[in-house]
Amino acid sequence: MAEDLINSFMTGPDENGRFGDFGGRFVSETLMPLILELEKQYEFAKTDDSFWAEMNDLWTHYVGRPSPLYLADRLTEHLGGAKIYMKRDELNHTGAHKINNVLGQIILARRMGKTRIIAETGAGQHGVATATVCAKFGLKCVVYMGAHDVERQKPNVFRMRLLGAEVVPVTSGRGTLKDAMNDALRDWVTNVRDTFYCIGTVAGPHPYPAMVRDFQQIIGKEAKAQMLEREGRLPDTIIAAIGGGSNAMGLFFPFLDDKSVNIIGVEAGGKGVNAKMEHCASLTGGRPGVLHGNRTYLLQDDDGQILEGYSISAGLDYPGIGPEHSWLHEIGRAKYVSITDKEALSAFQLCCEQEGIIPALEPSHALAHVIKIAPDLPKDHIICMNMCGRGDKDIFTVAKHLGFDMAEAD
Ligand SMILES: *Cc1c(COP(=O)(O)O)cnc(C)c1O
Repeated sequence: MAEDLINSFMTGPDENGRFGDFGGRFVSETLMPLILELEKQYEFAKTDDSFWAEMNDLWTHYVGRPSPLYLADRLTEHLGGAKIYMKRDELNHTGAHKINNVLGQIILARRMGKTRIIAETGAGQHGVATATVCAKFGLKCVVYMGAHDVERQKPNVFRMRLLGAEVVPVTSGRGTLKDAMNDALRDWVTNVRDTFYCIGTVAGPHPYPAMVRDFQQIIGKEAKAQMLEREGRLPDTIIAAIGGGSNAMGLFFPFLDDKSVNIIGVEAGGKGVNAKMEHCASLTGGRPGVLHGNRTYLLQDDDGQILEGYSISAGLDYPGIGPEHSWLHEIGRAKYVSITDKEALSAFQLCCEQEGIIPALEPSHALAHVIKIAPDLPKDHIICMNMCGRGDKDIFTVAKHLGFDMAEAD
């Protein structure tokens, strides 16, 4: 197995932004100078103590880090097998892990003298996190959002507007996340001087996948230290849900060289990975291609047209996956599985009932896989799953699927 030939899994990407055959920098000539400048500035900031001091201060006092590592004891007992821990990133300000990364990029933007921040958003979570941090620093914020998503995600559109952001509905293509990302890239090229493009996941051209991973790594670093303190050893299995793959990469990265740790990424299986592409499982149901400036596994038809994908969870329906995951999949260091809408919904309910935690639908996918494997594992097997978001945003979707009429429920 290729895995055995590699000394460290933590050295990537190479100087061309490649993780094995994946990643890279597939961008137009006009975009290249911007990307190179960003890379230079990031490489500098990364080794600058004052950059991390500013991050740590905001992580502590604005975001609320470190997030707790919680032993889900009732769920553990209910399932009767492995011991289940949750990394509580849903307790962060704005309710998910996204703000970890947004803070990093915006501090970098400020150092680069940029005054206008643009972002793409699908379900609106990254848009809200970006609008939040822009408000905090008094920066102009423009969020590109597919017209279709603007309709579907009204509460988040309103949140962004309250926070002072301009939300631009994107009607090109099919008016979804993929198209919003294309429009944001176009905006960047036309507004080079004052604008910084804040990407929401471990995708895009190099250095974005590595940079976003570096900012999200705080999740895995904390989890590792907290686990050593609680249990005196590392977990046996770590599990996270994957849209583009940023919360998962953040949890996984610090554990990549700990070979005793099983790493499992959970993709959205929608209505089932075999059914007419009604899913978002890029690794389990897609194949390699180029999208948004990098080579990775994508959902595509026989002609290479990108497919939209489907999931009950709007935050998971990105048709690609971060290139580092594609590499970890190919070399076998991490395993990727999929979970259907139905399985995620019952995990959501079980988590509410057993733990008093209303999870977002995205981590409900990770939890569903935990529920699948935990009963057959010994009681001394330790699982750590990433509870990357809270479920307040999802109660309307869940109510609809459970046949509960919100309008009549007063
Ligand atoms: C955005 C989002 C995701 C998907 O993004 P990743 O980059 O895969 O982490 C998952 N969970 C929550 C709660 C989100 O808001």
